[in-house]
Amino acid sequence: MSDTKTIGRFAPSPTGVLHLGNLRTALAAWASACSVGGTFFVRFEDLDQFNASAHNALRQAEDLSALGISSDSTPVFQSHRFEMYHDAISDLVARGLTYECFCTRKEIQEAVAAPHGVVGVYPGTCRELSATEREQRRAERPSALRLLSGGVAETFTDYVHGTVTGIADDIVLRRNDGVPSYNVAVVVDDAAQGVTEVVRGEDLLDVTASQVRLQRLLGLPQVTYGHVPLVVGADGERLAKRHGAVTLYELEQSGMSVADVREMLWASLGQTGSGLSRGGLQFDWELVPREPFFWSGK
Ligand code: GLU
Repeated sequence: MSDTKTIGRFAPSPTGVLHLGNLRTALAAWASACSVGGTFFVRFEDLDQFNASAHNALRQAEDLSALGISSDSTPVFQSHRFEMYHDAISDLVARGLTYECFCTRKEIQEAVAAPHGVVGVYPGTCRELSATEREQRRAERPSALRLLSGGVAETFTDYVHGTVTGIADDIVLRRNDGVPSYNVAVVVDDAAQGVTEVVRGEDLLDVTASQVRLQRLLGLPQVTYGHVPLVVGADGERLAKRHGAVTLYELEQSGMSVADVREMLWASLGQTGSGLSRGGLQFDWELVPREPFFWSGK
């Protein structure tokens, strides 16, 4: 099958070295787009200028390319695109779809821990502040900006999870240090790059309904998602140093070749064949395991 309209991407945050889970998701993103003759991009999500670095981006690009995961264009860096994100935010502000939020992380944690609080959902503390209350709070601390989502349900299609419906949250659009949020940047960039399928880790499944809401409000096209189950350690916890070799470099140090790692990742995605080159590549989402992949270490 050849589908030149499919555009996929892998969008790591260059805040460290890619681990097995990231590499596995990258392989799925690349193979999913390339197996149908589509286009594939790498985008570096380096909004967090404190933790992200060009050095990390370079290392990530090297690891991806060692595994044969190549971008069809020079990778985009989000730190170069702030203006686009601010324009999108200004549009929402002009339409009355935002509000200022003065909550600290601790205040939100306390509010969601209270009876009727829902973990992972903004408790609405600042949603209906009066003009006077807002004035008072502004004198205390800078505000973040949130989306007035309306708490509506949004439905999207996911290669792994099927049809998914979730409630859109009042996500942060601009942090209180003035930096646009990941949610805005991801939605704006996917549309600007013509992305049609977003393949990423399952940890982002919960925020997807909010991103779909944002797309809708900004008049941007919807995309298909593929939330790949995570790689976890033998103890079921997120991959960490204690789980042994988890980066490409560490795996090579432990005696695996790059080809061995690729083959192991490919098999862990339930795929058959070598999946090595673009020509004749086949990727079947039906075969991707629905459970986390347990890494027992090297
Ligand atoms: N930059 C995000 C991460 O590394 C991924 C965002 C996305 O793929 O939408 O977790």
